[in-house]
Amino acid sequence: MIDSINEDALRQSRVSAVGEGVAHLVCGIASRHADDVDAEARFPVEAVDALRRVGALSAGVPVELGGAGCGLAELGDLCERLARCCGSSAMVLAMHYSQLACLVRHRRDNPCIEAFLRELVDEQRLLASMTSEVGTYGETRASLCALEARDDGTVRLRKEATTGSYNAQADAILVTCRHTPDSPSNDQRLVLVRRDQATLTQTGGWDTLGMRGTCSPPYRLDAVMPAEQVLPDPFDEIASRTMVPYSHVLWSALWSGIAADAVARASRLVREQARAQPSRLPAGATMLAEVSARLQGVQHAWRTVAAHYDRAAADPSAEFGMDWALRFNHLKVDVSTGAHEVVHGALQVLGVSGYRNDSPSSVGRHYRDILSASLMISNTRILAQSAAILTVLKG
Ligand SMILES: Cc1cc2nc3c(=O)[nH]c(=O)nc-3n(C[C@H](O)[C@H](O)[C@H](O)COP(=O)(O)OP(=O)(O)OC[C@H]3O[C@@H](n4cnc5c(N)ncnc54)[C@H](O)[C@@H]3O)c2cc1C
Repeated sequence: MIDSINEDALRQSRVSAVGEGVAHLVCGIASRHADDVDAEARFPVEAVDALRRVGALSAGVPVELGGAGCGLAELGDLCERLARCCGSSAMVLAMHYSQLACLVRHRRDNPCIEAFLRELVDEQRLLASMTSEVGTYGETRASLCALEARDDGTVRLRKEATTGSYNAQADAILVTCRHTPDSPSNDQRLVLVRRDQATLTQTGGWDTLGMRGTCSPPYRLDAVMPAEQVLPDPFDEIASRTMVPYSHVLWSALWSGIAADAVARASRLVREQARAQPSRLPAGATMLAEVSARLQGVQHAWRTVAAHYDRAAADPSAEFGMDWALRFNHLKVDVSTGAHEVVHGALQVLGVSGYRNDSPSSVGRHYRDILSASLMISNTRILAQSAAILTVLKG
């Protein structure tokens, strides 16, 4: 009893320390460099170094392994806060946390993964993901590449990825693949590949409208690693219980952060107009109210799903069946669409001062970043999955 009280107190103090570190140090640094990161399409090295300094990269590691033990809702708060300053930095953090959750929640008693998690805490290691593959057309639940078992207890993996965010800057990458060369495309595994175990060849560029700082070009990976680095659970279980819940909620959190900053810029302008002519309601005030209401809906949507997930995930036997899959799909489609509408609405309130790239009220970066939300796992693809679920789900 005492131990669990002490552990909870320790957890709370670590969660608060990380939250304060992100709010007081990381956000300021990320804001200062956000425009340059975007203009140069360069990795947000300053923000990620600051995340390391405040121990934020291990926020999702359980307390007993040295982390802060943050749940999904708490990680979402960190991503949302950072996204108000720099969308690319927040996307890096959200993708890192999604991969980290896969290791934490599916490590079973694998000593190799536990040792890596302790090292991640000490060294603040950064994780990236490689699920996309040339030839699978955005379908994450199918792989062409396969693990090849070798006589010395290692496995070899070769993969051609279409999009690999900060794969070159990460300390390790979680890669999906077929279990064996004879497995069907949907018999997948997730493998932890350390950077020093892989040859990574960049096979294209990353010159995009938005999310430019995520540095996500195509890559060819050729890696050899101990077989223990293959997570024991099949990937379909990891995806439904952890990867999809974490990525859809954390992406939603950061998209709502981008939208919130656009609304903050619009609010600033409306307040200035109200001060200049106190007797008149500024022209954009009613539209601002409409946009604020939509933003509140978007924020409420991800927070509600995150809180429900944290409660359910506390029970290790909890099932994450089709009803949950539908909720995570609906959340992703709803928030990606809603956050875009909010940024668009904020731009209407701001007018040309928001449209200009050289204005302090500019929402150009926000607009370009938020355009990726509906594509990052295409909403059309997700709606097609949801449609299939709805044809069989009762109630
Ligand atoms: C900023 C950003 C960062 C990313 N980072 C990573 C990363 O780190 N690692 C990684 O592995 N991947 C990453 N991705 C890729 C992502 O995971 C998806 O693989 C990718 O967004 C899908 O790309 P696509 O549009 O080419 O593919 P598709 O999903 O095939 O979509 C192509 C077109 O087909 C349509 N379509 C697709 N499916 C259907 C369907 N069932 N019915 C009807 N129409 C359909 C879509 O509407 C779309 O027009 C990233 C993507 C972005 C935007």
